[in-house]
Amino acid sequence: MPDTAVILGGAGFIASHLVDRLVAEGQNVVVLDNFCTGSRANLADHLAHPDRVRIIQQDVSEPFTAESLGLADAATVYQMASPASPVHYRRLSLETLTANALGTLGGLTLAQALHARFVLASTSEVYGDPEMSPQPETYWGRVNPIGERACYDEGKRFAEALTMEWHRRHQLDVRILRFFNCYGPRMQTEDGRVVPNFISQALAGEPLTVYGDGHQTRSFCYVSDEVDGIYRAATLPDLGGLVFNIGNPEEHTILEFAQIVAEVAGVPLTTVGKPLPPDDPTRRRPDIARARRLLGWEPEVSLRDGLLRTITEFRARPPA
Ligand code: UDP
Repeated sequence: MPDTAVILGGAGFIASHLVDRLVAEGQNVVVLDNFCTGSRANLADHLAHPDRVRIIQQDVSEPFTAESLGLADAATVYQMASPASPVHYRRLSLETLTANALGTLGGLTLAQALHARFVLASTSEVYGDPEMSPQPETYWGRVNPIGERACYDEGKRFAEALTMEWHRRHQLDVRILRFFNCYGPRMQTEDGRVVPNFISQALAGEPLTVYGDGHQTRSFCYVSDEVDGIYRAATLPDLGGLVFNIGNPEEHTILEFAQIVAEVAGVPLTTVGKPLPPDDPTRRRPDIARARRLLGWEPEVSLRDGLLRTITEFRARPPA
């Protein structure tokens, strides 16, 4: 019998690419999603195969059990349910907090009941505005607990703490993965993050909106690399209780990134300044030594290749 994976938030951007990978690996997938930021369109390739990918409309902040979901078994429960772009988590601030608190509790409870492994999708945002670079998993972070990003940052930090307590108290096999600025096809045009904003603006012949002075840095990881890291961390044995940074250590300022997007899109660079959002981290770059050592993983897709694939998919979208 094929393994079954349950993915909370499985209709989201990264999670839907994980669904593709798990199905390709021969697994069956059960997706729980309330579609607040994810969409059925992200799972379009699977809609005709409900025996392989079952989609259940479920707000993970509301109660659910193996019985209520009609689930007899699962090998792995992935908690990927949360708005993840600053625009969406500001708009859905309370929903973000409850998805990360109650959704994670629901996922852990389900994993325990089914004797399944639990994988938490966390974020580089747990490091806040870091004092050190690159950021290793051992760094505790510098987060404003009452700021505008706290619903996401502290939501994820709570989810990590809860996950580790289930590991300690119940010996549940858990793995925590911190994602760093993943991008690729299926990102929503209106998601507000820098990658879809810059690509949409470049393709529309508009100036790219640079927030602040553009000297803040990010490190962008193409989604197929991200999913490969997730797959390895979720399926390799003897990793219970470990945390992994999953990201690309190549770091760019936002101004450099604007230049690269314009070049790959084949347009001259023009920019317009906008205010820096509150608590916007000044730098972000993963230390991936642990993932290299224990997962045998590192990103393979260059920024230009990944952007070309993403821009090609954006160009093929029907006009809004
Ligand atoms: N940013 C920008 N222009 C945009 C959107 C974002 O300059 O149109 C900046 C933002 O201020 C941040 C970086 O790009 O410094 C990455 O922002 P994003 O919203 O993609 O994600 P974050 O890494 O902040 O979670």
